[in-house]
Amino acid sequence: MLEKREADVIIIGGGIMGCATAYRLAKQGVDVLVLEKKEIGNGGSCRNAGGVRQSARDPKELPLAMYAVANIWPHLSEELGVDVEYHQGGNLRLGLTEKDIKVLENHTAKSLKLGLDVKMISGDEAREICPYMSKEVVAASWCPTDGHANPLKATLGFYRKALELGVTFITGVKVEALEKVKGRVRRMMAFMKQTKFCCVPAMSPERLRTPSA
Ligand SMILES: Cc1cc2nc3c(=O)[nH]c(=O)nc-3n(C[C@H](O)[C@H](O)[C@H](O)COP(=O)(O)OP(=O)(O)OC[C@H]3O[C@@H](n4cnc5c(N)ncnc54)[C@H](O)[C@@H]3O)c2cc1C
Repeated sequence: MLEKREADVIIIGGGIMGCATAYRLAKQGVDVLVLEKKEIGNGGSCRNAGGVRQSARDPKELPLAMYAVANIWPHLSEELGVDVEYHQGGNLRLGLTEKDIKVLENHTAKSLKLGLDVKMISGDEAREICPYMSKEVVAASWCPTDGHANPLKATLGFYRKALELGVTFITGVKVEALEKVKGRVRRMMAFMKQTKFCCVPAMSPERLRTPSA
């Protein structure tokens, strides 16, 4: 049996990336379908230490992380209507050896160039922030605007909001193949039990780039 589904945008995966993207697009009136092979939050989004971190990011992703800390995380609980337990307590990255310190200094220098509030501190300064830390720590990088949040609540918060805005989520469907026409993905083939799905993204990339679309 072949079932055909169409949507403006089809997202593969119901992790925080899929759920948050679905929510933002639905807010702009885009018709979104999310295909998830297991359950929502099955992947890394709900199984991690909860760090909301800018320090030691790749310079390519740092501006986005800084934007999120300044503009998204502080208001996210209010926006999603669920306490995502966001707390801006800072992040220490610890150096025990000369090699560690070089790595930290390198990250710190690159991040400073992009405007992040981060600096190298001594082991004793790190122990003032975190008193029970081992004496083996000889230096650290310190970013006071880093923090943490509850990843499960954040992911499911985006999922619930996206649902409220009419996003369709199908779980238990694994996307097996993407078919391209003229270099662009035009069809996704997915399977659930005996049913074969053919999912067709209907919105052009040009229209997606237009905020008023
Ligand atoms: C608040 C927060 C804090 C975090 N803190 C940390 C941290 O301290 N340390 C750290 O290392 N990371 C952290 N992370 C990052 C996390 O570990 C993941 O790297 C990140 O959430 C990945 O998100 P994702 O949506 O891209 O992928 P995932 O959450 O892995 O979601 C991908 C989804 O796609 C589905 N899928 C895959 N293939 C298919 C297919 N073919 N068809 C259909 N579905 C498919 C999977 O089942 C899965 O549900 C944090 C994330 C959050 C949200």
